[in-house]
Amino acid sequence: MSKRILITGGAGFLGSHLCEKLLGEGNEIICADNLFTGRKQNIAHLMGNPNFEFIRHDITKEINVEVDQIYNLACPASPPHYQYNAIKTIKTSVMGAINVLGLARRVHARVFQASTSEIYGDPTVHPQPESYWGNVNTIGLRSCYDEGKRVAETLFFDYHRQNGVDIRVVRIFNTYGPRMLPDDGRVVSNFIVQALRGEDLTIYGTGQQTRSFCFVDDLIDGFVKFMETDDFTGPVNLGNPGEFTMLELAEQVLQKVGGKSKIVFRPLPSDDPKQRQPDITLAKTRLGWEPKVPLSEGLDRTIAYFSKLLQNPQGMRPTLMPKPRAATTASS
Ligand code: NAD
Ligand code: UDP
Repeated sequence: MSKRILITGGAGFLGSHLCEKLLGEGNEIICADNLFTGRKQNIAHLMGNPNFEFIRHDITKEINVEVDQIYNLACPASPPHYQYNAIKTIKTSVMGAINVLGLARRVHARVFQASTSEIYGDPTVHPQPESYWGNVNTIGLRSCYDEGKRVAETLFFDYHRQNGVDIRVVRIFNTYGPRMLPDDGRVVSNFIVQALRGEDLTIYGTGQQTRSFCFVDDLIDGFVKFMETDDFTGPVNLGNPGEFTMLELAEQVLQKVGGKSKIVFRPLPSDDPKQRQPDITLAKTRLGWEPKVPLSEGLDRTIAYFSKLLQNPQGMRPTLMPKPRAATTASS
């Protein structure tokens, strides 16, 4: 049956794919986004559809709409973006969670939280099952994101226990694909865009750190399967268990794109996790979900997207947001 669904962060990379999928299934979609890292271009093809509505809204403010389901994706996801205004990032996670949970409680909607593998921090257990509590720095440069997402998970489970709110919490591992921003700062888009521009590929550190990359279509299938599953709150890991070093990723991209780019090494950012791989046993058993698109095929599809985009990159520049105030020392 057709549902009315609110998607916060719906103009972003993952959100725009989710809007498209749920709209295609005959639902009515309200996409709420402040366009910090989202782009109208990502949803331009949906704008003419009478079942699609875009509202420019900041999720740190209360929202009131009558809906059956809420997907809460609003939050910058790439380290340079979430560190641009760290205080705003943590407010988005925490106040955003309070606002969507309050709405879900008022209108009796099922509410989904896009949590992250970052809640495991720099993990000491490998691969990471949902039962692992994580190894997270509370005061580092990544903490605004990691701890914001951890508090959001806590809020989701407290609203569930205390107010009976019907929640779904997913922990997303690194996902890539078309509609990432070209200068987003995340590794897959960085390497592909650098290679296409003939620039050198920047590996941070030695390149021996690992990540597991999931293609966006697989992830979005998992989101919807999870949201449609009764009696299962999660948290559940969604990601592709294929694990690669950043050096292997750079070599694959270079081999596919060709050209004259080389690999160069740059300093490793602080608190950069050394390894990451999802244990997806729970998703397999409870949702019957596992990813289908191997890295090589996903990279081909992402390279095709960026090579087209770079011929006409208009409108994909970052939105200018107020710069956070610089630190000052109190003087008497
Ligand atoms: P993205 O930056 O493309 O999308 C985030 C969207 O949220 C953007 O459209 C942005 O404009 C919007 N937004 C940010 N702050 C907002 C605010 N205060 N109010 C309203 N809208 C706001 O990133 P993405 O990769 O699409 O990530 C979507 C969600 O999934 C995020 O919550 C992210 O933490 C989570 N996630 C993503 C990944 C991944 O690999 N892509 C991994 C783990 C978790
Ligand atoms: N990385 C890199 N070069 C880049 C961008 C990122 O070597 O140009 C590394 C980064 O240090 C990290 C990994 O790639 O070890 C994944 O980074 P990303 O920002 O994509 O995701 P996250 O660290 O949040 O998992």
